[in-house]
Amino acid sequence: MNQFDLIVVGAGPAGLTAAIYARRASKTVLVLEAKAWGGQIINTPDIENYPVVAHISGVDFANDLYRQATALGAEVRLEKVVSVQAQGQTKRVQTTKNEYEAGAVILATGSENRKLGVEREQALVGRGVSYCATCDGNFFRKRDVAVVGGGNTALEDALYLADIVNKVYLIHRRDSFRGEESTVARLRGKQNVEFVYNANVTALLGEKRLTGVEVTDKLTGEKRTLAIDGLFVAVGRIPENESFRALIDVDEAGYAVAGENCRTRVPGIFVAGDNRTKEVRQLVTAAADGAVAATEAVKYLNA
Ligand code: NAP
Repeated sequence: MNQFDLIVVGAGPAGLTAAIYARRASKTVLVLEAKAWGGQIINTPDIENYPVVAHISGVDFANDLYRQATALGAEVRLEKVVSVQAQGQTKRVQTTKNEYEAGAVILATGSENRKLGVEREQALVGRGVSYCATCDGNFFRKRDVAVVGGGNTALEDALYLADIVNKVYLIHRRDSFRGEESTVARLRGKQNVEFVYNANVTALLGEKRLTGVEVTDKLTGEKRTLAIDGLFVAVGRIPENESFRALIDVDEAGYAVAGENCRTRVPGIFVAGDNRTKEVRQLVTAAADGAVAATEAVKYLNA
């Protein structure tokens, strides 16, 4: 029972889309997921840039995708993969609980939160420091908080928080944003959002709980204290490829090296989604990768 045509590592949008495509090609499919299905999209309050769907929450998107994949016959198991080995036609996948065999494997493990790197950051997680505005925003209702970062996640987090907290400081290390201009424009229209440009968070204040942050202006060196109860860190993500470094090539930033056909240098091992080298990391490109990787995997299995 531990043999499948295809094993997909990761049940985010890329992995579950791959499962749908492979099932529609009549392959047996096991999806292995270490945490919860859906991947990072479950932290997005409102998806507005997926074709046809004008608005959907990340959780609803993930649940619908999971239902679609499992209704087609994909099996999803919550097990952490610790290694993948390619022995010719046979691929062995070791989890913390079981060992599996497959003809092909798609690595769709996505990425994890990058830490800010400020002293006591880890100690204050759950005591004011958070990496997920939609998960923890409610704890800070009517309080003052800050978001740090300048990508789409930081912008969307700030927008979400502005509606439930008293005040949001948006701290960014530059004076222009990496995220979408339309979201920046919406934030500018919010009375309770203050932009703190060219600034780094240089200290976390408070003993048992966060009571504020020290920010340092990069241009003048001037320090300022912001009295806040919550700090939402949204400074990007790190690809989750640690378990596959011995198997496939990764670039200097840790992304799995693969072209638009999602093939790695190892026959039968494919990579899909945010852990792959690529230009645009979006929900729609993750889903597209899943379709491409599964189609390539089916071709490989049928050859
Ligand atoms: P990101 O786009 O990589 O942005 C990370 C931000 O954090 C950048 O502004 C960066 O500053 C800043 N940063 C990095 N390290 C820092 C540090 N040590 N201290 C302070 N600031 C630091 O990451 P993301 O916002 O998590 O987004 C990841 C991907 O998901 C992106 O492709 C994004 O478009 C996508 N995404 C899409 C949606 C959507 O489509 N609705 C929603 C969320 C995310 P610099 O700009 O100066 O480098």
